[in-house]
Amino acid sequence: MDGLRHDYPEKSESGGFSFMASKGVKAKSLIPVYQSTTFPTHVSMATGVYPNTHGIMHNSFYDRQKGSYSYSPEANWIESKPIWAYLEEKGIKTATYFWVGSETDWNGIEISYSKFPFSNSVSEETKIQQILDWLSLPDNERPRLIMSWWHGIDSTAHKYGMSDKRVSQKFIEQDRHLLDLINKIEEKGFWEDLTLIVVSDHGMTDISNLININELLKKGKVNTKISLGPAVGHIFLENKNDILKAVQTLKQNKFLKVKRKNEIDASLNLIHPTRTGDIVILTESPNMLVSRKNNNPPIGMHGYNPEKNKDMEGVFLAYGNKIKQKKISKVRQVDVAPTILSLLDVEIPKYMEGNKIKLN
Ligand SMILES: [Zn+2]
Repeated sequence: MDGLRHDYPEKSESGGFSFMASKGVKAKSLIPVYQSTTFPTHVSMATGVYPNTHGIMHNSFYDRQKGSYSYSPEANWIESKPIWAYLEEKGIKTATYFWVGSETDWNGIEISYSKFPFSNSVSEETKIQQILDWLSLPDNERPRLIMSWWHGIDSTAHKYGMSDKRVSQKFIEQDRHLLDLINKIEEKGFWEDLTLIVVSDHGMTDISNLININELLKKGKVNTKISLGPAVGHIFLENKNDILKAVQTLKQNKFLKVKRKNEIDASLNLIHPTRTGDIVILTESPNMLVSRKNNNPPIGMHGYNPEKNKDMEGVFLAYGNKIKQKKISKVRQVDVAPTILSLLDVEIPKYMEGNKIKLN
């Protein structure tokens, strides 16, 4: 559920969220990885590792060896094995109806069932029908893991901000679709063997100040290649001798935290061998990094450090087979893949950086 902030399930009155929260497991929140944007977060949930390990630093980024990445469907940019590839290798069938990194094979390992290319005009109804069709396949053809991206509130909240009525309406709609999925699984009598997990990739907060990094660097006469997310920017210098000038130039904006690569706190998981800039700039809401003038700026945004901004936290709920009714404390996105494997009784590989969540 894209962009669904941790406080939304409580707004559900009679939809899927209130059902899952009252009958299943509900975590206080799901802490996203940093930067808390769609591509890194989806891939962390699918791999069980942080972005500097799987390499998808943002929806777009720059790699010193491979060049520029931008919303690419090419899965080989991911440097850790996605859960579907891990399962398929063991002969376990998997399916995805839109999940970042699942559109192509991963280093030769194919997904049994996958829908592509991504399109945000595909409705939740269509996805629900396909999910039920997959679940209805005979034993030897049926996928044991199905992952699907739903709209959540993301694009509505970007456009109008969190206090706009259209965001609550969008949530009610998604809440209803979720209940529809739950009811249809019930009608088919699948719950005995099936666990449903609902997560979001990040939360959302309102912003009001865009910082144009290109303009700043141009004024300082520094030649760079920049790759920016809303909250974290990587600056690659064309001439390494410019580093002091570049740092001083960027520091002129008081809303920027400016770090040389060797000064970045390792616990932020931002240091990648070829995808981290010579200089890394960080900002917090209500600020946002941009590379050009934007005449139609977003009002809602995410990407910020989840350890500093509670609004970035998302949701985690589970219901069905092997699930007890209980409230649990905050969990992390890197815990999602190990938790799925433990539900499937499949060994959790050593490379995963998260831990399974206790659901019963
Ligand atoms: Zn978004």
